[in-house]
Amino acid sequence: MNLAERDLAVIWHPYTQMKTALPPIPIIRGEGTCVFDEDGKRYIDAVSSWWVNIHGHSHPYIAKKVADQLLKLEHVIFAGFTHPGAIELAERLLAILPDTQKKAFYSDNGSTAIEVAIKMCLQYWNNKGQQRTKILAFKNAYHGDTFGAMSVSGRSAFTAAFDSLLFEVEFIELPDDNNIDDLKVHISNLKSDLACFIFEPLVQGSAGMIMYEARHLEALMAHCKAEGVLLIDDEVFTGFGRTGKPFACNYVQTQPDIMCFSKGLTGGTMAFGLTTCTQQIYDAFLSDDKMKTLFHGHSYTANPVACAASLASLDLFLDPATQKNIDRIVEKHRAFADRINAHPHIANYRQTGTILALEWETGGNTSYFSNLRDRLYHFFLDKGIILRPLGNIIYILPPYCTTDDELDYIYAAIEEALDTI
Ligand SMILES: *Cc1c(COP(=O)(O)O)cnc(C)c1O
Repeated sequence: MNLAERDLAVIWHPYTQMKTALPPIPIIRGEGTCVFDEDGKRYIDAVSSWWVNIHGHSHPYIAKKVADQLLKLEHVIFAGFTHPGAIELAERLLAILPDTQKKAFYSDNGSTAIEVAIKMCLQYWNNKGQQRTKILAFKNAYHGDTFGAMSVSGRSAFTAAFDSLLFEVEFIELPDDNNIDDLKVHISNLKSDLACFIFEPLVQGSAGMIMYEARHLEALMAHCKAEGVLLIDDEVFTGFGRTGKPFACNYVQTQPDIMCFSKGLTGGTMAFGLTTCTQQIYDAFLSDDKMKTLFHGHSYTANPVACAASLASLDLFLDPATQKNIDRIVEKHRAFADRINAHPHIANYRQTGTILALEWETGGNTSYFSNLRDRLYHFFLDKGIILRPLGNIIYILPPYCTTDDELDYIYAAIEEALDTI
């Protein structure tokens, strides 16, 4: 049996209808922007392996730091014990986050970082003796697949089987010039019930790279802050340069109470989650009453290897060459979008930083399950490019080391798809 056949005999893949799925493509090696299959066929990873990779695959600097850490200390219990990597990572990250962020809580992935944030907010009010249990979120939001994270995400085909079990959330539209005043009134009316407002800043990734303006986010954040509603900034996707600045919240003035990170945190090397919070939230859990403790943790909390990968990724991220690459990609995307926008098959495009999304004109049929999506996906694979359209939306989300030549190759493939499919 080849690798794909052995896989299908024993493995159940994420978001995959196993009855109709084609065999998976076995990848045996990664280098820079590319991954390679058994036969040596090269694929440009234009989606950063589900948005996690920022410095390229199997980066030698991260690999060396991880290997060194493995030989020193692979893991240690994090209750009652600590280790240098966890401390250094918290110190260095808090130093580059908004200065409201004072404490770091580690977990395992983006969804767990969200679970921790939600629990911090709900218990914050509980510890203060106030009944605030409602959470405010955007329609079409995506915050993860565990039950709490799913509850604060928009209801869709992905949540349908569980909808009756998800806790109640107040969903609002994305803000724009027309609805911002109504949204503020709505929030004011609910404020005494609202524990927190959770949002994906500037870009709703899973919803189809839906984007909204920083000034509208600022208006909502400032209003929530004035009304005493805690702000959870989910930077799991947008963190570490994706939007052009280090963090999406760098585009607004009002700063969040809680921030969540994962995806780019380790540079895409391994699973890891981080939730940071203000002194005010942390202090609400300090008590002689044990009931006020944050009773949350995971076996691998603050795993030293994940901390080492994150520290190495942070070194690379803070190298000025990385910001230059980000700026270069932003400019290249802009020029391509300007050029392609006139194409009759393009309904519209949108860009935030290194994320470029092109909406394919479909005359109304925009289903995730549409066959256009599958045709596009395979067209790009044949060309050695990994792009995973979300329905009729083609998005490019490259690692920052992607070269101009690689970007031009990806753009040319998209133009060819527009002309031939
Ligand atoms: C991917 C994602 C998550 C969930 O992270 P996982 O590591 O996949 O659990 C949460 N929030 C946002 C905005 C994401 O894009």
